[in-house]
Amino acid sequence: MTPLVRSRNALATDELPFFFDAVHIALAERAREFAMTVAAPEEDGNRRSAAATYEQLGERCARIALKLGKERLIDACVPASFGGLALGSRRDQIDVRAVCLLRETLGWASALSEFVLAMQGLGSFPIVVAGSDALRKELLPPVLRGESLAAFALTEPEAGSDVGALRSTAERRGDEYVLNGRKTFISNAGIAGHYVVFAKTDPAAGNRGITAFVVKSTDPGFSFEGPQMLVTEHPVGTVRFDNLVIPASRRLGREGDGFKLAMRTLDTFRTTVGAAACGMARRALDEALFRATTREQFGKTIAENQLIQGHLAHMATELDAARLLVYRAAFGRDKGTERVSIDASMAKWYATEAAQRVIDLAVQIHGGAGVLRGIAVERLYRDVRALRIYEGTSEVHQIIIARVLTGGERARQEARIPGDAGDSLRQTAIDRPHSDTSKTVETPAMLAPPSKPATRPTPKRPLVAQRTAEEAMRKTMPEIPAQKRPLGRETMPDTPATKLLGKASRRGEPDDNDPGASSDGSKN
Ligand SMILES: Cc1cc2nc3c(=O)[nH]c(=O)nc-3n(C[C@H](O)[C@H](O)[C@H](O)COP(=O)(O)OP(=O)(O)OC[C@H]3O[C@@H](n4cnc5c(N)ncnc54)[C@H](O)[C@@H]3O)c2cc1C
Repeated sequence: MTPLVRSRNALATDELPFFFDAVHIALAERAREFAMTVAAPEEDGNRRSAAATYEQLGERCARIALKLGKERLIDACVPASFGGLALGSRRDQIDVRAVCLLRETLGWASALSEFVLAMQGLGSFPIVVAGSDALRKELLPPVLRGESLAAFALTEPEAGSDVGALRSTAERRGDEYVLNGRKTFISNAGIAGHYVVFAKTDPAAGNRGITAFVVKSTDPGFSFEGPQMLVTEHPVGTVRFDNLVIPASRRLGREGDGFKLAMRTLDTFRTTVGAAACGMARRALDEALFRATTREQFGKTIAENQLIQGHLAHMATELDAARLLVYRAAFGRDKGTERVSIDASMAKWYATEAAQRVIDLAVQIHGGAGVLRGIAVERLYRDVRALRIYEGTSEVHQIIIARVLTGGERARQEARIPGDAGDSLRQTAIDRPHSDTSKTVETPAMLAPPSKPATRPTPKRPLVAQRTAEEAMRKTMPEIPAQKRPLGRETMPDTPATKLLGKASRRGEPDDNDPGASSDGSKN
């Protein structure tokens, strides 16, 4: 039997050429090179050993970030106007297809590398959109170079899906704010140089009382409470703020705009979570095809059994369906179609759920070998699980999709009920790139069934007008020149990430950023 084995070296752009431009194909090539030569060996070398401590995990993230920065791959997470990647003529926006391609390709090779790249985007996007010029100039270049890790701190013990329930406060005192509160499940907790923190400036105003700030790990009053160890290698933990004083210049946007900023950030990145899931599923399919066509039982390869063929057909079809949804959403976002939110929710929900099913079948095809600690499908099985939870759970995305379908979007635009769980969900269901909910009327109309079901609502403001306003805003912002080349170690700023690396090299561990360094710390 001649197996139809998808090439491990296939470009992520090969099968969906209609979604991509030449620049994407070139970027995918660079991403693949990085995935094969850097990310995959790094992953394989580390995952075979016993579970890492949180500190070791932090060191790995810091090393990976430097490598991604050196190859200028993080640039894709920041618009060109702010020092990021220039793709075509769109200098003021992230190219979502580019981020998807990177996350998919890295996801194939190493979930941790894929995560590190994504966090640099998630933790810097609110600064790009709403930070002062000084903040952008200070914080974005080290993030792009991978010298400082970024974090996005929204979730709290009592506020998960229901963002409006968050309890952290930011009290204004003259030219300063005093922050108090606690954030849980924060990726890069304890290793990030800065955190985009969402806190209530007006606790009585529900979601409209939320404001975003930048908190630095060096701020007095900031503390890392500890890690939350997961089933997979993913640094997550709890941070707290005790009478933490920051200047008002660290506020992102206006008071009360934090919720919109958080949702806009998530709206931009959630399609890319689907892409990461596709990368992991694709790897699982590759591994399963290899196993099925080489493992013999009952005198023939297991791939010759129709039940196994059914599994493979199922996996390949689910993966292709997921990729079509992901790249349709990314393409729509880049081209400014009106279906942005529903497409992003469909893509994120379907791709992450499908990836879980594909990976589970890959484990099944491997038999006992599928649950051996450290082999590819076993770690994929653990890696993929959280993708169905963060950046909107699968349930939240189904609600968003259904509300848009049933006319809930119109109601969302006409009604806001501050503070309730549905408010978060409605706000997430923005069916266009950038929302303007400032003119909405507070009425419980949202609770009533939609009067005209199954008709697509017309956005109140034309999309083009919205984009024009966005462009005008961008034009008033001075540009940060793109980095010429990555800085050398000697010029690196003192960040938690570089400190971790310093610690590692003092312990005699190899510095993967320096190709000439041997494991005893000396140069070859
Ligand atoms: C690996 C990982 C990394 C993360 N990183 C970050 C980060 O960097 N920054 C950050 O701020 N947060 C982060 N999170 C937190 C994540 O965003 C939340 O876990 C997520 O929003 C869900 O919140 P929760 O865990 O409190 O679950 P809950 O909100 O308590 O939900 C529990 C269950 O109830 C369901 N549910 C809730 N409300 C409804 C409803 N109205 N209808 C139907 N079902 C509902 C949910 O879908 C879920 O199945 C991370 C989480 C994980 C696992």
